[in-house]
Amino acid sequence: MQTKYVVVIGSLLSGIGKGVVTASITKILGMYGYNAMPLKFDGYLNYDCGTMNPYRHGEVFVLEDGSEVDMDFGEYERFIDRDFNNAFSLTGGKVFSEIISNERKGKFLGRDVQIIPHVTDFIIDRVEKTAEDNKLEVMVIEVGGTVGDIENSYFVEAMRQLALKRKVVFVNTTFVPELETVGEQKTKPTQIAMRGLMQAGIQPNFIVCRSKNKLTAETRNKIAYFANLPKEAIIDDHDLENIYKIPLDFIRQGFDKLILSALELDSGRINKEELESWDSNSKAINAGNDILNIAIVGKYMSLHDSYKSVKEAIVHSAASNNVKVNLNWIESEELEGEGESRIRETLGTNDGIIVPGGFGGRGIEGMINTVRYCRENGVPYLGLCLGMQVMAIEFARNVCNIEGSNSAEFDKGAENKIIVLMDDQKKVIDKGGTMRLGSFPAKIKEGTEAYKAYGSQLAHERHRHRYEFNNDYREAFENKGMVVSGTSPDGKLVEMLEWKGQFGIGTQAHPELKSRLVRPAPLFNRFIHESRSFHLRRKDRDII
Ligand code: GLN
Repeated sequence: MQTKYVVVIGSLLSGIGKGVVTASITKILGMYGYNAMPLKFDGYLNYDCGTMNPYRHGEVFVLEDGSEVDMDFGEYERFIDRDFNNAFSLTGGKVFSEIISNERKGKFLGRDVQIIPHVTDFIIDRVEKTAEDNKLEVMVIEVGGTVGDIENSYFVEAMRQLALKRKVVFVNTTFVPELETVGEQKTKPTQIAMRGLMQAGIQPNFIVCRSKNKLTAETRNKIAYFANLPKEAIIDDHDLENIYKIPLDFIRQGFDKLILSALELDSGRINKEELESWDSNSKAINAGNDILNIAIVGKYMSLHDSYKSVKEAIVHSAASNNVKVNLNWIESEELEGEGESRIRETLGTNDGIIVPGGFGGRGIEGMINTVRYCRENGVPYLGLCLGMQVMAIEFARNVCNIEGSNSAEFDKGAENKIIVLMDDQKKVIDKGGTMRLGSFPAKIKEGTEAYKAYGSQLAHERHRHRYEFNNDYREAFENKGMVVSGTSPDGKLVEMLEWKGQFGIGTQAHPELKSRLVRPAPLFNRFIHESRSFHLRRKDRDII
């Protein structure tokens, strides 16, 4: 069997949902029974995403094996429900570091090393090896960036060359703006972008058009005409209620049959059961009668993509609890130095509050104020990584009355360091790929909220942190009622903390990274369930 390829490329601008298009195409191929997975190219020269600020690049997604990859991998895993590994993410940094290391070893002896053929051959080899290792029938390759960028030019060229020897179907993603004043869809940007693609030697087989409203017949015809394509090859990707409906909308348009036929694959065998279950799951999103207000109090709030997986995990568990969720994004810095009444004013309408992950001291005191508000008012709380650490600091300060409590990350001279650098982090100097990364097991105490959530004595979640709970304070915490509900299997690392008698749980892991529409993350599911109970209790009280 020789792998066939779909290459998803952007010709106009980034940020229009190329990742979702890639995930949707792969999902459809999977529904037809084909072993298909995406691979992603990113042009930047970072080895991986791990050293990038979320403001630059959105969330850093972590795979089972600990690779720190582009947030599109979150979309892939959530749609396809399979785990990826490092080989599926190819960055400019990885390509060049290997090329140069090979050059030093003398692998190109006698030659000058060039973008063509050495870099392009290397990319093609990598792609084919990953396809072969995973026995893929179809690999869907997403080329990050936009055609015409210097950064991804050698990836685009490698794809042109791949098409000379393998079956490759090109999908160009574009954006069709609509001018509000005249209410007309404009195709000119796409026409101009097509020139860049053709200049690169690529004639797309399909054009997926992101737009606000459905494509008009005129728009479709015009784009088809300028792109040398039949009008059926112009695919509508207009705004839908949620992204999980996109594969279904592609199928409605017949894109499934068209892409299979372009790949010269048999189209006779869609898995009806899978199609129907995806359909009913996507319809369950935002379908319930109760509307919960859920706040995310964090530090990278002006770019919601920084918390993309947290947001999606909430979507998944809201659907499974049959509720609608109204998300409130709150900058934790705004809750610093504020009196109780101001904090109540900002947080008071929420039925549940999440403090997500983060690095550095900015906004920490606002998070601690948030935790205190939840604990004192019985508001369900979920702390993710940093969210568990601030939960511990708050408890040390306000319940155990341990003065000068803080994390060593924010105050190296703190009198009581409740959160400290992990032992194996102490000698680490390099920043890239050196955190505690990837999936680790946690032992869960029976009878706790964590146990109710997981229904098991063992949980496997993904991690990305350098600091941990300081065991010197474990006894004091337990004496005051904090429950250590999860630890590493050897009992040494605290993995989960929870309050007694009210719902508040912090985890050192990032359970949002493994949440899928078909299998919501257990802690989120429990949190939304508890937030719903809190909401109903509050509603009753209001009525009285
Ligand atoms: N900054 C904290 C640490 O390194 C928390 C990290 C996170 O929230 N992912 O331990």
